[in-house]
Amino acid sequence: MKERLIFASLDQPRKPDKGLRDGSCNRTACQAPLKGERQWTMDDFMVVGGKLYYCHRCARDFNAWDRQIGVPLRCTPVPPPEQARITRDADLPQVSSFHG
Ligand SMILES: [Zn+2]
Repeated sequence: MKERLIFASLDQPRKPDKGLRDGSCNRTACQAPLKGERQWTMDDFMVVGGKLYYCHRCARDFNAWDRQIGVPLRCTPVPPPEQARITRDADLPQVSSFHG
């Protein structure tokens, strides 16, 4: 599995919006666009209170794996109220900078 991840990171360039809300799935081998899609979060252990965003398919895979090995599920679905903001954000110009 480690080898596969290393291979994926070499094979796939990282999108600048990787892991961001309405950006791209944080799984390097996936990076599916999240805007308008069902999104899931995982706690970012590198940042206090940070969240990483994943697509539905990857989150389902992660949770299925966690269930299999008997650890707490890592991915949490983004609640509907947050999804409702996507339409408003769509009117904004392309995000060109990160916060912090
Ligand atoms: Zn994904």
